[in-house]
Amino acid sequence: MEVCGTHTHALMQFGLKDVYRDKMRLVSGPGCPVCVTSQSDIDRLLYLCDQGVRIYTFGDLMKVPGSFGTLREKRALGADVREIYNPLEIIEDMRKQPTTIAVFAAIGFETTAPLVAELIAEIEKSGVKNLYIYSLLKRIPPAIEALLSDPDCEIDGLLCPGHVATVIGETPFVKLSEKFEKPFVIAGFTAEQLIFALEKMYEMLTKGIIGVFNAYYSTVKKEGSPLALKALKKFFETSDAEWRGLSVIKDSGFMLKKEYSVINALQKYPQLYKITSKDNCPCGQVLKGKLEPEDCSYFGVSCNPENPLGPCMVSSEGSCHAVFLYRT
Ligand code: SF4
Repeated sequence: MEVCGTHTHALMQFGLKDVYRDKMRLVSGPGCPVCVTSQSDIDRLLYLCDQGVRIYTFGDLMKVPGSFGTLREKRALGADVREIYNPLEIIEDMRKQPTTIAVFAAIGFETTAPLVAELIAEIEKSGVKNLYIYSLLKRIPPAIEALLSDPDCEIDGLLCPGHVATVIGETPFVKLSEKFEKPFVIAGFTAEQLIFALEKMYEMLTKGIIGVFNAYYSTVKKEGSPLALKALKKFFETSDAEWRGLSVIKDSGFMLKKEYSVINALQKYPQLYKITSKDNCPCGQVLKGKLEPEDCSYFGVSCNPENPLGPCMVSSEGSCHAVFLYRT
């Protein structure tokens, strides 16, 4: 299983899933931040729109269907929903409009969390008082642990996300590899880097080698990025988080520390806790590697990139989107 949306996209783009089909069946995991955002969280953002709150988020999240439409549809109906590329862009906006209340829906993994940490520091520094953070940031190692703890798990080895490993280093993956006695390979993103990682994975699988091989050694250091880890430690604590298809996973989220609760959207809007919804599509099974995109009965019929039924078809890092793009 590759646990990185960028890997999913690249493996499909370079045709490597097909090239390696006779040696290994490569399945995609929960590595796309848009795809793992739960239905409950989408519905909470839709609720905030109805309260007149401005929402900032990354583009793809706007197209994910909640129980009553998407953020993009809300915007078409007049809600104030804004797409951003860099979280720091928000500060200037909010400074110019001090009477507007806004929530930044922060999705992403260990790679994006340091950017959000930077935004929190900037909010503190700038004295902006009308911006709240709804942290949907997630940690990859607890998700891998949840997948491998499933008694029906059929995963033999893990292709680890190179970008996440750049931040957290090799150690969290070493612990998981030892605990579950499976080979892990940290991979880069070019065709050459992926082939190198896949060859190593095949060798480890066929020889029964357990452990972590860092095939992205040019970028990933054993200890990760001390600077990014320091920022994460300063602003966040771990919390349980809900993942689409994987339910609530212990300690798999980044929650703002108590010192920053004044800008935590969950403190400002405690009613959000009351909104819980069930996932309304089979994407959860795809994210667990138990359903191939083409085997979903909606794939290419009622679900396509123009009209996605689930998040895996929305994001370019989603496995359904990648399969649709490169195989149909
Ligand atoms: Fe979800 Fe659509 Fe993929 Fe089916 S084809 S799993 S509905 S995104």
